Amino acid sequence: MSTPALKIYNTLSRTKEEFRPIDPAHVRMYVCGPTVYDYAHIGNARPLIVFDVLFRLLRHLYGAEHVAYVRNITDVDDKINARAFERGISIRELTEETNKVFQQDVKALGCLEPTMQPRATEHIAQMIAIIERLIASGHAYAADGHVLFDVPSMQNYGRLSRRSLDEMLAGARVDVAPYKRGDMDFVLWKPSKEHEPGWDSPWGRGRPGWHIECSAMSWAHLGKTFDIHGGGIDLVFPHHENEIAQSCCAFGQDVMANYWMHNGFLQVEGEKMSKSLGNFVTIHELLHTEKFGGRKWPGEVLRLAMLRTHYRQPIDWTVKALEEAETSLRRWLEFIAAGEATGDSGNFLYAFEGALADDLNTPLAMKLLHSVHDPAQLDKALDLVGIDVRRYARWIENEKRESVDANSIGALISARLTARASKNWAESDRIRDELAAMGIALKDNKDGTTTWEVKR
Ligand SMILES: [Zn+2]
Repeated sequence: MSTPALKIYNTLSRTKEEFRPIDPAHVRMYVCGPTVYDYAHIGNARPLIVFDVLFRLLRHLYGAEHVAYVRNITDVDDKINARAFERGISIRELTEETNKVFQQDVKALGCLEPTMQPRATEHIAQMIAIIERLIASGHAYAADGHVLFDVPSMQNYGRLSRRSLDEMLAGARVDVAPYKRGDMDFVLWKPSKEHEPGWDSPWGRGRPGWHIECSAMSWAHLGKTFDIHGGGIDLVFPHHENEIAQSCCAFGQDVMANYWMHNGFLQVEGEKMSKSLGNFVTIHELLHTEKFGGRKWPGEVLRLAMLRTHYRQPIDWTVKALEEAETSLRRWLEFIAAGEATGDSGNFLYAFEGALADDLNTPLAMKLLHSVHDPAQLDKALDLVGIDVRRYARWIENEKRESVDANSIGALISARLTARASKNWAESDRIRDELAAMGIALKDNKDGTTTWEVKR
């Protein structure tokens, strides 16, 4: 049976459209990546997972070697400068360290590595080239060491967000600056102070604005026009609007990307996530600490919990939803491990792929997983959405081992305390040695308690 046709909701047209790549032998997708100054929060995980599912589906439909997925790394930004300055390290040190953790976190969420992960600092030449084209074509001007995009010079600015200039002015936080001709004009290049990172340019030593990075990196790796551009809904305006303005005006074309896709907001337990509310949680904390729901969560559970809501809907990130996802996963794991078909699954895989192809209807796809009677088909379906049940099984085993370890260590420590209380020093030393052999170092505290740490 053939594969169902892919349909995508296009923010540009506000309709679901059939996906027709420019070149089926080279399908191209760009997604705005992280600004690597701090650990990524769970809201950042949403586009990572959503567009990974799309990447997997495109590879399935067009062949893995025919799909290019670019997700950039923003490694120059005022937040990066400020944080590096605060910590007294170079921006390279800060971004290397943050990016390393980011890559581990995304891998734990089951995401494939994108085809390319270009860094902004390695594309300064392309940014300067685009800015020069914009100045030459009358869409940008240099003033006071800055270069600004001249928004009124573009006839259909606002096409993606569907706002008029007046609405944008009313809604936007507008920086008033003497070097700006129009209030909506945005920065392409700005001067750097002595201690700030900077590059030589025709306008003096400076650094790029944020929006120009994505125009340069998508051009460098996917060409002037490509198929899909994705990101969170909060990026529609001004970031994506400005990317379109830069790329279209620099290259004299109407289209930057044919399909614009945006995932919805994420909130935590019914509230907007914020540091002041104390409900701010990073991917790293979910995976490795007990901050959310009092326990660690495996990447597969996080991923499934994310896919139970359609990517365009707002998602409420709750402990309950994670527990439900975990219950489903355990059931599927047992079913696959048992390896026995319990009935006829009919056209299950076709229906499953059909749900995904219908603008990534993952809630329907996940629901269908509950009605499959053949473990081999379930396994295939989970693989298509990047849920690795074997890795999940290893996680469970590992957790069990760790909790057994902790229990037996606790028992040995209290046996040693009993031995010490009855002045049985030989037994006390024997237990200490036994623990040392397990890689556990003991510390006898003044208050009579004993604490331990892993030395291995
Ligand atoms: Zn971008």
